[in-house]
Formats: sequence, structure tokens, C-alpha cells
Amino acid sequence: MVNSVVIVGGGTAGWMTATYLQATFGDRLPVTLVESADVPTVGVGEATFSTVRHFFDYLGLAEHEWMPACNGSYKLAIRFENWRGQGEHFYHPFERLRVADGFSLADWWLKLDDGERRFDEACYVLPALCEAKRSPKQFDGELFERSLHDGGDRPRRTTMFQQDTQFPYAYHFDAARLAGFLADFGTRRGVRRVLDDVVEVRQDERGWISGIVTREHGEIEADLFIDCTGFRGLLINKTLGEPFESFQDVLPNDRAVALRVPVDVEREGMAPYTTASARDCGWIWTIPLFGRIGTGYVYSSQFCSPEEAEAELRAFVGPRAKDAEANHIRMRIGRNRRSWVNNCVAIGLSSGFVEPLESTGIFFIQHGIEQLVRHFPDADWDANLARGYNESVARCLEGVREFLVLHYKASTRNDTPYWKATEDRRLPDGMAERLRLWEARLPDASSVYPYYHGFESYSYDVMLLGLGRPPARPHAALGLLEGGEARRQFAELREHAARLVEELPSQYEYLARLHAGR
Ligand code: FAD
Repeated sequence: MVNSVVIVGGGTAGWMTATYLQATFGDRLPVTLVESADVPTVGVGEATFSTVRHFFDYLGLAEHEWMPACNGSYKLAIRFENWRGQGEHFYHPFERLRVADGFSLADWWLKLDDGERRFDEACYVLPALCEAKRSPKQFDGELFERSLHDGGDRPRRTTMFQQDTQFPYAYHFDAARLAGFLADFGTRRGVRRVLDDVVEVRQDERGWISGIVTREHGEIEADLFIDCTGFRGLLINKTLGEPFESFQDVLPNDRAVALRVPVDVEREGMAPYTTASARDCGWIWTIPLFGRIGTGYVYSSQFCSPEEAEAELRAFVGPRAKDAEANHIRMRIGRNRRSWVNNCVAIGLSSGFVEPLESTGIFFIQHGIEQLVRHFPDADWDANLARGYNESVARCLEGVREFLVLHYKASTRNDTPYWKATEDRRLPDGMAERLRLWEARLPDASSVYPYYHGFESYSYDVMLLGLGRPPARPHAALGLLEGGEARRQFAELREHAARLVEELPSQYEYLARLHAGR
């Protein structure tokens, strides 16, 4: 059996992996994490996906235990600004579409739209909560809609595959604080932490990793090695030589510049969503944490220099960005041909990344860890386990790639060279056929990318409708239906949203109590 694990890298990927393996196997599998005191972490990665709650639940951590330590806040949606045209916006919420007479409300909205309300306001309750900056919870901790909480209030050891509702929120948190919190949590439970640089990786005659050599702690041996060294890929690429397959032909953004900006949350309140604002050569994220904003410009170096990007970001943020230090990042977009090679598994940025739109980096980490536990190597290192793992990781990354490509392909902007270029860009295999079908009818579960990648078909509906590329005509079958049930549901949604805005505390009010330990 695998009797010991060494993780190299102490960013979000390293510490999430260490704590998850410790929570799974306890003392039966010693875990050592080696992290450099000098090589910095990437320093971003602060908005998440709704499945992340399974990670915290799995560790047995309740929100009041970790959120205050990490400046945590709630995220109900992503607000897309200026993707369709200047001044336009819509929300991509963590909320499934309701169904009337067998058709989704998105289908019905296309048929019944009277131009009075945006589709996302008409079909969902979360956009109203976002606009009013509400918390998804009452002061007593009760979720605004109890039936959406499949886990009850007590953390349970579930995984993302057991998620049968669409949980209505994810989190924002300070990435550095989270890594520090998890390091503390993990070491208290038995993870061995070694603060040192890996200066050499040793391989046996078969090419398997036999040990890592550190500057001050000598050689450390293990059965399984996990590469969490970020874009460097120290073990998987530099040592084992696994090729990295770029996605840049379809997703061209390869750089980012990020700032940390202080905010007076008591005075300004807190938006319960991430904002993605389209700009001339890419887009800017705004992530509201408790006490500051994380913001950054993601762009393509083909169209914009780092200096221009930083100047644009500072102008966007305004005077409070004056003293903030800029973090310029080169992004490696794509995936390793295999993320598990011999006795080495890459998790996090060392495995693959598709740019931060839709906040999937931490989702990939969680997916990688859960899959590793599901495919955990046996005494013979059955090659089928590694193959199954690699297939699942590759499909997940490629599914998200396709969903992100849709954001650019469906956007109706063409006012700068960057946006014009999106029109002729190559599509991933199979996507052109799917797009043609979506021009005739909205996507459903049977017509989106077929393997697990976190996104359900409603997300595709949201992006097509929000970006202004709906099917040419409403669904023909609806012309033969009466539509009374759909009208009733639209009216009910509207009332429900207004009632929730009245009843729920603001996100600031709720979090101020949570952060104060009340
Ligand atoms: P890193 O943070 O780079 O950590 C690498 C670790 O390896 C460090 O501890 C370093 O010290 C260590 N190391 C390297 N070399 C050595 C050595 N020789 N010896 C010892 N240690 C070594 N994800 C999201 O989910 N949401 C987001 O909003 C989001 N935004 C992003 C924005 C940008 C611009 C980018 C680039 C990424 C974003 N991500 C996001 C992804 C997210 O940041 C990463 O998935 C996450 O931070 C994990 O990074 P990591 O741990 O793999 O790598």
C-alpha cells in the first residue's frame, strides 16, 4: 500500500490537499508538506464555486470557525458588466431554472418576454438579493431557502458528486489567509510541515520519484509525491518531463495584474457577488472580502502591455488603489497531457488552469483531490487507476474550457481589436456542432459538454441569454401551449424575491456579527 505522501508546495493547492488527505486517512497515512519560505505563492484565487462548501464540511469546519480568519464573505452570483455593450449587466447566479409544463423558465421567458425585465431578474431570485446586497442567511444562520440545503447545518463528509441541489452560494476569501489557516489546522492534526526549498528531485531506475532533496532537511522519501508547485510544475514537468498542452489557441488571455485595495465595509456595504467587467483587452475581476477588495485585470499580451494593463486597472479602481502594490502574473493556460505520472500527481496550477473567469481554480483543486481519493493507488499501482484519474481531470478542465470559450464567442462586443478577434477564433473540438444546436434551441443537459465539469446546462442558458445570443426563435412547442403555469411562476418568483429582500439582513450586517463571533 501507499504508506507515505510528500506534497511539494504550500499554496492553496498544497494545503487543501494536505488537510483533505489528513481528514480522509488520519494517522494511517503520514503526510509531509514541504514549502519554500522564499518562492512566493501566486497570491490570488479568492472567489470560489458553490461546491467548495463540501471541502470545508469534509474537514468538519463550520463557517464561524474559518470565515472570520480568512476575511470570508458570500458569493451568490457573478455579475457580468459590459460584456454585451457598455452599461449593460446581468447575473450568473448559483440557482437552477424552475420548470413549467416541462420547459424551463428561460424557454418561457423567450416566448413571453415583454421587454419589462431582464431574463435573469425574471427567472431567478438571486439577482434581486445581489442588487440589494443581501446575505443568503437570516441572523439565526438559517439559509433563505431551507430546501436548498441538502446537508443540514452540521458539516458532513460529502463530496461534490453528492451535491443534488444547486447550493445557492460560494465564498470569497483571502487566499493567503486561507493557506495559513489550513496550515495551522493541518499541522495541529498531524501533517508534518517542512519549511525548506526543494533543490533536487531523485528518480529510481524506472523513472519514478524516490525522494526530494531539500536545502536544509536533506532527502525526504515517500511512496506518493504530490506536485503543488504552481505554474512551475517542478515534479510533473521539470522532473518527469510531462508535456503541457496549451489552450491558448482558444483562450488567449495569458497575463493578469492584481491589486489588494482596502475598503470601509461598514460605510460602503458588501456586494454578495464577484464582478467581471469586460474591458478593451480582457476583463477585470472585483472580489469583495470582509475589509478589502481583491481586483485584477486579466488580459492577452497580444493586445496590451503590463504597463497599460496596470494603468487601466488603477484608473478603474480609482484613488484608493494609489498605495496598493501591483502583482503581475504570467498565466500558463492549458493542462498537462497527464496529471498523474508514475508515482506523482499534480494538483492545482501545476496540473492545469483555464484563466480565472468563473472562478474555477480552487474547484479544480477540490476535484483533483476528491478524484485522487477515489482512484487511490493500490499496492500494485494498477495503471487503470491513474488512467481513470487522468481522464476525469482532463475532461473536467476541457469542459470548463468550453464553457469559458462560450463567454467570448457569445459576447456581442466587437468594438476593439481584442473583441473583434474573438469572432474568428478556433473552437474546441465538438463545440461548433453544439453551438449550432443552441442557435436553434436553448441548451439542456443532453446538449452541453457531456462529462462532469461542474457547470450545469442552466449556466449555458444564462450566458447565451445574458450575452445577447439567444436562439433565433422561442421553442416552437411553446406556441402550442397555453403558458398559464409559467406566468404564475414568474409572478411568484417576483413576489418571493421582493419578500426575501425585505426579510434578509444585508451581507455586511450578517458578516459583521459572524466576524465578531456573535
Ligand atoms: P501557488 O500558489 O503558486 O503555490 C506554489 C507553492 O509551491 C508555493 O508554496 C511555493 O513556495 C512552492 N514551491 C515552488 N517551488 C518550490 C520549491 N523548489 N521548493 C519548495 N516549495 C516550492 N482560482 C479560483 O478558484 N478563484 C479565483 O478567483 C482565481 N483567480 C485567479 C486569478 C489569477 C490571475 C490566477 C493566475 C489564478 C487564479 N485562480 C483562481 C487560481 C488559484 O489562484 C490557484 O488555483 C490557487 O491559488 C492554487 O495555486 P497553487 O497552490 O497551485 O500554486
